[in-house]
Order: sequence, then C-alpha cells, then structure tokens
Amino acid sequence: MKNNQAFVVVLIVMGLAILAGILFGRYTLVSLASETVNAACTFRSTDIIASAQGDVYNPNDESDSVVPDTYYLAVYSVAGDAITNPEFQPVPNEWKDEQEDTALQDETWALFTDLIPPQDREMVAQFNVFTDGYSNTLAAVDQLKEDPSLWVLEIDIEDLKDKDALMFTLVHEYAHLLTLNASQVIPDREIVNKPGDISLQQKKAAACPAYFTGTGCSYDDSYINAFYRRFWVDINEEWKKIDALQYATDDQTPYYDGLYNFYLSHLDQFVDDYAVTHPTEDIAEAFAYFVFSPRPAGNSIKEQKIAFFYEYPELVQLREDILNGACSK
Ligand SMILES: [Zn+2]
Repeated sequence: MKNNQAFVVVLIVMGLAILAGILFGRYTLVSLASETVNAACTFRSTDIIASAQGDVYNPNDESDSVVPDTYYLAVYSVAGDAITNPEFQPVPNEWKDEQEDTALQDETWALFTDLIPPQDREMVAQFNVFTDGYSNTLAAVDQLKEDPSLWVLEIDIEDLKDKDALMFTLVHEYAHLLTLNASQVIPDREIVNKPGDISLQQKKAAACPAYFTGTGCSYDDSYINAFYRRFWVDINEEWKKIDALQYATDDQTPYYDGLYNFYLSHLDQFVDDYAVTHPTEDIAEAFAYFVFSPRPAGNSIKEQKIAFFYEYPELVQLREDILNGACSK
C-alpha cells in the first residue's frame, strides 16, 4: 500500500515535472517565436514606418495641392482568399495594360491576404483595383451601401511600386475594418446612404450612449469606444471646432491649417499629423504604429496610444501574424 502510494506520488511528481517542462518549453517556444519574428522584421518594420512619415497637413508642403483623376480598373467579388467575377469599366488607354493584367491584380490582392489572416477579414466582400497614378491615395475601405456590415477594400495598383508604403497603408486601412466592423459598431444603413448629411449624423450621435464613429454607434466594449474614452474626451471640444471648418466653405485651407496647428499644439499626443483628422483615423494610425514599431518604452500619450493595443491578447496575436506576412514580402 505504502509502495503504491509512493509510486502514485512519484507518478504525480513526474507528471508535474513533465507538465512544467511542457509549459516551460511552450512558453520558451512562444517567446522565442515572437522574438524571432520581431528580430527578423525589425529592419523591414523600420523601413515601413519610415515610408509613412510625412506632413499631410503641413501648409509648407505644396506637393498635395493637385487632386489627380481616379480610375477603377476592375471590381471583384471576394470569396475567402479568392477574388472572382471581375467587372471592368472603361479606362483611358494609358491604364489598359494594367486593366488586362489579372496576374498583377491577383498580386495586389495577395498583398492584403498575406498580411491579414482569413478569420480577421471576413467583412471584406468586394475588392476594387483602382489607380490615381503613383502615390496620392494608396488604398481605402468603405461600407457596402446595400449591406453596411460588409466592406470593400480598394488598392491602387500603381502603388505596388512602393510595397513599404502600401503595406503601412493596408494595415491602416485594415485597422478601420477592425475597429468599425459589425462586431464593434452597429451598421447603420441610413448613414451609409446619406454620407454628407451632418444633421442626421448629429441626431444619431445624440442617441448613441457610447462613441459615435460617424459610421454608426459603437458598442460599449468596442476598441474605438475604449480608445475615445481614454484619449479623446479632453480634446474633443477643441477638435470639433476645427472639424466643422471643412463644412463651412469650399476652401479647405482653414480646415487643413486648423488641423496642422492642432497637431503642433498636441505633439505628444499623436503618432503623426494625419492622426488628428478624426478619432477613427487616430486609432487606425496608432494601430499601424503598434504593428510596425517596437513596444513603446515611454509614457507619453502617443506612446500610450500604441501600447493600448497590447491590452488585447487577440491584437497581440494579430500583430505577430501581420509581421510574419510583412516579413515574407
Ligand atoms: Zn484612414
């Protein structure tokens, strides 16, 4: 009996030792894996972040003054990893080659699917290949009017020439999908179908108990509501006066100047000047910095905004998945 008991104890001790070994080994593997990912990606990430630097609203930078024409080369349906049923619209002769180059269009789509795991992009139902020439707008997302729980992703095929900048933008655009999808913000068909209706927006915002994103009312436990409550409550009144300037006149100069001055007077709060555009742009830009930057060492508000995402284990995992995808490019 005693022997049996001793045997059981030995078994338990051995079991615990094996379990500890597995756990230790597992944790070691996990931490080594993430260090390997980050180490291999450090150089790449630095390039990607560098590609995103720039003054969007700086009045001394004249480069963005001309709005280029935009052409849609192909409109695809999305089925999982695949894009299907392309529809083609008339385009100028200079874009005909790109319009017929379905391999290049597949490559453009693959850049997105390689970065974002399938389970994290189920809201994307349509993929538009467009171009406004090199640079300018690199990519965009929008809700589908017929079903605002579904989204369209648009990528400028000319911007494949600068993969670093395009990857940063794709992660920024993905952050909109992550923070505005139907599990985060209640899809609002009325708003999607009346995009410029400011009084409708104000009415909906007043009826929303959490943060109203402009696309709909966010859920109480959504990323954007938490982000807004923590980082925007104190500055929102000041920002709203500037935001209203864009609707005051056709001349957008006062609005852009106002945003840039707002950025300069809150330099410790924003990762770059584009982030002051809107709280939904702030969280998207902060998410892209979260993905491509090391974890912040300091405690400024802009560093807190990047660190914010580390509070969500699913987003830490997503960061690792995106970096793995970016590293393979
Ligand atoms: Zn954006």
